[in-house]
Amino acid sequence: MKTIGLLGGMSWESTVTYYQVINETVKQELGGLHSAQCVLYSVDFAEIEHFQASGEWDKSAAVLTQAAQSLERAGAEFIVICTNTMHKVVPQMQPHLNVPILHIADMTAQELKQQGIARVGLLGTKYTMLQDFYKNVLVQNGIEVLIPDSADIELVNHVIYDELCLGVIKPQSKAQYLRIIDKLHAGGAQGIILGCTEIGLLVQQHDTAVPLFDTTLIHARQAALKALQD
Ligand code: GLU
Repeated sequence: MKTIGLLGGMSWESTVTYYQVINETVKQELGGLHSAQCVLYSVDFAEIEHFQASGEWDKSAAVLTQAAQSLERAGAEFIVICTNTMHKVVPQMQPHLNVPILHIADMTAQELKQQGIARVGLLGTKYTMLQDFYKNVLVQNGIEVLIPDSADIELVNHVIYDELCLGVIKPQSKAQYLRIIDKLHAGGAQGIILGCTEIGLLVQQHDTAVPLFDTTLIHARQAALKALQD
């Protein structure tokens, strides 16, 4: 079994899910008392969020590169960054690492293609929904991406940073997310990417008939399967 390096804490609320799903997947695959070999470096999210808000992505890239190098020294054979948004700085990180980063958008694109989804709605932080770093990976895989209108982008982003990353789950926010999911579906999206690792804490597949692609579940499961490959 390979050792997985988890770069977490963004926020820690969703890193908990990664740890659980990775271990559950290894248990399903190997049975018995088997569990995942992994190391976790959990950052202070306040610092990362500050760099996001001030547009200082280079500084956040430096913090995450150092953290990933620590994981490497601790024996990680590949790195899993437990957030969609911070994949923005993967191109700055990877050249300084000797082990690969398992990209969350690549894993999601593969899952969408397997399910025959050609047009998808994307929910995530405003950076993920509005900037190109994430959508481009999907587009390069032949997938068309729809995003909410500007008022709903603000709402989705606000709920992520001011509620979900603080562990606050509100029924009215869930209702708003389900409204936005329905709207994207009515606009032609065959499914919806939960492209922020905390959204699964608010909305799950049993809440809607619209197919959901929860990036936390996809990424964590693929990480566990990769650890078990030859
Ligand atoms: N965890 C979230 C994501 O998947 C948002 C927090 C962050 O900005 O990293 O994008």
